[in-house]
Amino acid sequence: MTSYHTVVIGGGINGCSTAFHLAEKGKRVLLLERNTIGSEASSAAAGMLGAQVEINSKGAFFDFARASRAMYDELVPKLESYSNVQVDYIKNGMLKTAHTDEETARLLEVLAFQQKAGEKVSWLTREDLQKKEPGLEDETVQGALYMPEDGQVMAPYLTQAYARSAVHLGAEIMEHTSVFSIKKKPGGYEVISGGRAVEAEHVVMAGGAWTDLLEGDIAIMPEMIPVKGDILSIRPKKQLFTSTIHAPDVYLVPKKNGTVTIGATEHPASMEKQVYAGSVHDLLKSAFVLVPGLAGAEFNQAWSGIRPQSADGLPYLGSIDNQGLWMAAGHYRNGILLSAGTGDWLARTICGETVNQEWERAFSPYRKQTKEGVSSEAYH
Ligand SMILES: Cc1cc2nc3c(=O)[nH]c(=O)nc-3n(C[C@H](O)[C@H](O)[C@H](O)COP(=O)(O)OP(=O)(O)OC[C@H]3O[C@@H](n4cnc5c(N)ncnc54)[C@H](O)[C@@H]3O)c2cc1C
Repeated sequence: MTSYHTVVIGGGINGCSTAFHLAEKGKRVLLLERNTIGSEASSAAAGMLGAQVEINSKGAFFDFARASRAMYDELVPKLESYSNVQVDYIKNGMLKTAHTDEETARLLEVLAFQQKAGEKVSWLTREDLQKKEPGLEDETVQGALYMPEDGQVMAPYLTQAYARSAVHLGAEIMEHTSVFSIKKKPGGYEVISGGRAVEAEHVVMAGGAWTDLLEGDIAIMPEMIPVKGDILSIRPKKQLFTSTIHAPDVYLVPKKNGTVTIGATEHPASMEKQVYAGSVHDLLKSAFVLVPGLAGAEFNQAWSGIRPQSADGLPYLGSIDNQGLWMAAGHYRNGILLSAGTGDWLARTICGETVNQEWERAFSPYRKQTKEGVSSEAYH
């Protein structure tokens, strides 16, 4: 039977990043993907690297997100050179808009905590916004947080770049190979897919919203909550704004290729793939209120994806048996942003390093989840 240092299950962005980081350390890696690389959530994403725009309170999640974001300046040129895939990484900054007095008050609190945490962030008044982004004409906007360090990529391209870079460094990838079961063996695991089994010292479960369907000798398996998202893209005749605009009910991401990605709906517990007509209507309506000039754009396409959510919204990262069975799933709305940190952290931890004990506790698959918050007590 063929034997590997690590078998990664799932060729989404987090499986591919983990395979890349392990291959970079010279480990023998096999990645198994039941469809094709990036065929699920990782190709549906808007590609925002929104550490500041998405996370509004201090703690391990905010720190992990900004550490992951900080990796892209060095990581992207490396991946582009190994893989020959351009990922359209730009740091165009993000505006988080407030439309009511409550939203303004809340964003001013976020401003204070992020400034205290040492992040670049400022408050733009309505007049500032008119100068910075005249295309943003929504009269209800009272002001916005401006976060210049939050950037973006093309998510399907970044996923491909991790995968091809991993192969460049010696990893093997098998597409159209569904894993059914994981069996514990002395010194490692047997991973059983279609017509064959392979052995590995370590196994990483990175199956996105389908991770909890894996079977076998798996000590605990936290439930994954699928959250379907519809999203679309249009091509304006000319550029109407340069920053990503993040409003309470819609976001507009001006891509490097001249299109604008408009997202995204949230349909918890749905795994349907079709795009709802109502979603397209609602997203476009909200977008046109923010930037009326977009109404003259050419419609490009609409698509959907299934976000893998955990019970408390934080990813599951770490060992689930204190041996060689690992989980990298549950990245919910931020799996593109978190992919760099996820792959780096898992590869280093699998290779025996202690990276950050606070993150280990916060993201452990064993953490106990309550409405009041997260504790590091065992599940059972
Ligand atoms: C509409 C939308 C917009 C989003 N926008 C953003 C954004 O702007 N920024 C951001 O950071 N995040 C965003 N996200 C979230 C992000 O897309 C996800 O968090 C991320 O892609 C999850 O990656 P993953 O690798 O964990 O899972 P996935 O990409 O779902 O990959 C899991 C892979 O595992 C495979 N698999 C599952 N089971 C098996 C098995 N048994 N055997 C073999 N293979 C298996 C699947 O086929 C799949 O390819 C968005 C998501 C959606 C839906």
